[in-house]
Amino acid sequence: MIVKESRVVILTGAGISAESGIRTFRDFDGLWENHRIEEVATPEGWEANPQLVWGFYQQRRRQLFDVEPNSGHRALADLEEYLDNFLLITQNVDDLHERAGSKNLIHMHGELSKLRCESCASVEEMMEDEHLGENFLTCKRCEGRMRPHIVWFGEMPMRMDEIQEALLECDVFIAIGTSGHVYPANGFLHTARRLGAHTIGINLDPPENVVFFDEFFQGKAGEILPLLVDRWTNG
Ligand code: NAD
Ligand code: ZN
Repeated sequence: MIVKESRVVILTGAGISAESGIRTFRDFDGLWENHRIEEVATPEGWEANPQLVWGFYQQRRRQLFDVEPNSGHRALADLEEYLDNFLLITQNVDDLHERAGSKNLIHMHGELSKLRCESCASVEEMMEDEHLGENFLTCKRCEGRMRPHIVWFGEMPMRMDEIQEALLECDVFIAIGTSGHVYPANGFLHTARRLGAHTIGINLDPPENVVFFDEFFQGKAGEILPLLVDRWTNG
């Protein structure tokens, strides 16, 4: 189904990082690492209790030093090597795709490793030891308060124009480890499909939109992806 010339767009979610030890969002109870989503992933939550939200993301950032990319992340980097035209869109805010070697990558929900100034909007990479404590950090340019460079619920995902264009042009669309609950990423499947792309899903549990996949593989991304990528890249 996939050849070297195929235009392939991939969407990943929290499930691809689960085997690296990063918990997914809605595992059991709709909580993210024991916090209510509204508390730690909305602009209102930040307004109401910035210290709590800051501490939460600092913890997520420190966790990145304890985890490694898994065979699912690595298989996607191998697939990218092989293909002429490849885009990886991730909803994840961890850095495991880039650490596995993925290059053409869009973090549509932002990145844990970056902070953004609330006053002048400049973005900085802040992952050194001295940046990972509980005190707020200030902007090097204007001294404004830095906030997580994360897209919270109610905010606009990043680089949507590029994403839209790639979806309209792709031959194959593959969604991996995403529950299909979160808008607008859950609509990408429909956009790609409407224009005739072949659609493939890989997920531990059947996601919300499972009936719209041409092919669906149920199981762990770290086990299924290496097999599929091997099949695709070796004809
Ligand atoms: P989700 O938590 O809503 O759904 C995860 C899906 O992955 C589930 O359907 C689950 O069945 C599946 N899954 C679990 N383990 C898997 C595995 N080993 N292989 C394949 N599938 C597996 O995640 P979502 O759809 O990405 O939406 C959650 C939002 O939470 C995103 O916006 C994201 O920004 C944020 N988030 C990010 C991270 C991260 O960066 N790693 C972690 C948690 C939440
Ligand atoms: Zn600033």
